[in-house]
Amino acid sequence: MPRPPLLPVTAALSGAALLLTACGGVGDAARPDGENGVIGIAMPTQSSERWIDDGDNMVAEFEDRGYGTDLQYAEDIVEDQVAQIENMITRGVDALVIASIDGEALGDVLDMADDSDIPVIAYDRLIMGSEHVDYYATFDNFEVGVLQGQYIVDTLDLENEDGPFNIELFGGAPDDNNAYFFNDGAMSVLQPHIDEGTLEVPSGQTSMEQIATTRWDGSIAQSRMDNLLSANYSDDEVHAVLSPFDGISLGVIESLRAVGYATEEQPLPVTTGQDADLSSVRSIVAGEQTQTVFKDTRALASQTVDMAEALLNDEEVPVNDTESYDNGVQVVPSFLLEPVSVDLDNYHEVLVEGGYYEESELE
Ligand code: BGC
Repeated sequence: MPRPPLLPVTAALSGAALLLTACGGVGDAARPDGENGVIGIAMPTQSSERWIDDGDNMVAEFEDRGYGTDLQYAEDIVEDQVAQIENMITRGVDALVIASIDGEALGDVLDMADDSDIPVIAYDRLIMGSEHVDYYATFDNFEVGVLQGQYIVDTLDLENEDGPFNIELFGGAPDDNNAYFFNDGAMSVLQPHIDEGTLEVPSGQTSMEQIATTRWDGSIAQSRMDNLLSANYSDDEVHAVLSPFDGISLGVIESLRAVGYATEEQPLPVTTGQDADLSSVRSIVAGEQTQTVFKDTRALASQTVDMAEALLNDEEVPVNDTESYDNGVQVVPSFLLEPVSVDLDNYHEVLVEGGYYEESELE
């Protein structure tokens, strides 16, 4: 009998994971319960690598500590995420870890979790409007924005140059609480320069209503940038783009390239980002995207597993912030990890020496 072709283990595994996810039923991606119980992990989408890493890292850590896991991705469809969480509750998971798609949409399903005494940890994104969010594990989201804004200020040397320099602003998804923290952090640094006139926003679009990007979708950002360029830049240049997420940065860069940027005569503007997604780090190495903010998903996964384990064992849950994250009903005790700004100068030290990527993947 001919042997089936040998697949690299990772390819075989990710193929299996895709199949399981595509089936959608809750049992499908579920692994056997561990000796210490089973954790339901609801993640938003596989369209951006970070969430795949977050899911994989948590599964590995929970399994190491004797927990089974039920990892589900909802591909940015809110109703599917609600259904997946309902199924996890019905199945009787011991705890839920949730990175929400729409932070406002989980109130009813968290009431259900509470009725079954299932504790909930909000992962990376705060779940809004519910009293049944026990803890929140995330990065310092305001600081993420500060790192992006400060990078623009430093690169354009706004403390010494008069400009005026032209900037356009992009925001994240309006139903993700993080988007407001990122924007507030960035504007805390950029607004003084806009006020004094060294930075100008030719489109005049500065409010979150005007700059938000539904579902963090890079193609939506690309179309918006197309419109901004044709309406405001017929005889002017963009010098900086505040982008809160790598997928948005790459959409914006495509739009700029289409009208002649990315050449020696017309270099790309300073463009920020977030997540150190592989395609964006490659873009940084190629001299296109300028910066990203690295949030080590290995550390967040580990932190979350520590918190879940403490919670399930009635031990003190590690938190370092009990003030910043008000979900409209309660201030959720949180653990905030530190984000790191990455560009061409330090990507090697942070991402390659830090074991996140191999240099060979980045070319
Ligand atoms: C996360 C970011 C991510 C964005 C888009 C946010 O909630 O904090 O890391 O870039 O969602 O997926």
